[in-house]
This record gives sequence, structure tokens and C-alpha cells, in this order.
Amino acid sequence: MQVEQTFVMVKPDGVKRGLIGPIITRFEQKGFTLAAISLRSIDRALAERHYGELKEKPFFGELVSYLTSGPVCAMIWQGEHAVENARSIIGKTNPVEATPGTIRGDFAMDIAGNIVHGSDSPSSAEREIGLFFGSGAGAAAAASTVPTHLIAG
Ligand code: UDP
Repeated sequence: MQVEQTFVMVKPDGVKRGLIGPIITRFEQKGFTLAAISLRSIDRALAERHYGELKEKPFFGELVSYLTSGPVCAMIWQGEHAVENARSIIGKTNPVEATPGTIRGDFAMDIAGNIVHGSDSPSSAEREIGLFFGSGAGAAAAASTVPTHLIAG
């Protein structure tokens, strides 16, 4: 049986604030297994593709500038119901509404800087894993017995 995977990204403000460790800890404590991790910068083209569904939104330009403002930490996490469990511990999009105990509820103040991304469906997860790690990366990571640690410039 293929274990479900999801794509999670600590956004630039999360990286700058030293929150990679606490966020990884939350995922490990929940029971996820880390399958791949990459600290990297992303260019406008990748940011625009990642958030392609939002390109008509008024905040799209700001969102792309925010995502390209510094390094991000891209990760593949796997486990039972990985997509839904990740969304549950990340919390609501707007930190004002995110419940305390969730990542956004505990670490973020404003929707434009909500520090972490998690895929919203299994098909989004597959697409986003392909964008950030290359197609086939998810299956390779799932087949591996140790996390695939990828460091890119
Ligand atoms: N966002 C924003 N303003 C808004 C709505 C969303 O800046 O009014 C940003 C925010 O960083 C959010 C991202 O756009 O995380 C993607 O929005 P989506 O609705 O997909 O929320 P998510 O899946 O991240 O919870």
C-alpha cells in the first residue's frame, strides 16, 4: 500500500524566524515520517506555478514577492491521511482564526505572513512534490527506508 504523502513548506518568514525546528517537531510529534527536505530559494516562475490557482486574486503579486523574499524549507511528509492531518496541525489560513495549538495559531499573526504551506488535496500534493523535488521524487522517497535529504542552492 502506498503511504499518503503531502508537501509542506516553511515560508521565508518562518525560516527567518528560526521556526524550521519547531515546525518539524510538530510533524514528528504528530506521527509523520519525513521523506525529503530541501532548504532552497525559489524564483518568481516557481512561486507563480506553485500558486497558479490564485493568479487572479488581488493578493497574488504580494504573495509571489513574499515567497521569493528568502529561502524556504520544502518537505515531503508521509503517513496516514497525510494531507488532512497536515492541514489540521497547520491550522486555518488566517492566523486570526487559527486555533491555538495549531502551527499558525501559535506562531503567526497575519494572513500575509502565515509561515507555512500544506497541500490541500492528494492531487495538489503530487503536483507540488513534482514542482519542488522533481517527478517521481515522492515514489522514490516512499520506497526509501531513510529520509532523502536534499540540499539545493
Ligand atoms: N493569502 C493572502 N491573503 C489572502 C488569502 C491568502 O496573502 O487573503 C496567502 C496566504 O499566504 C495563504 C496563501 O495565500 O497561505 C494561499 O492561500 P490559500 O487560500 O490556498 O490558503 P492555504 O491553503 O495556504 O491555507
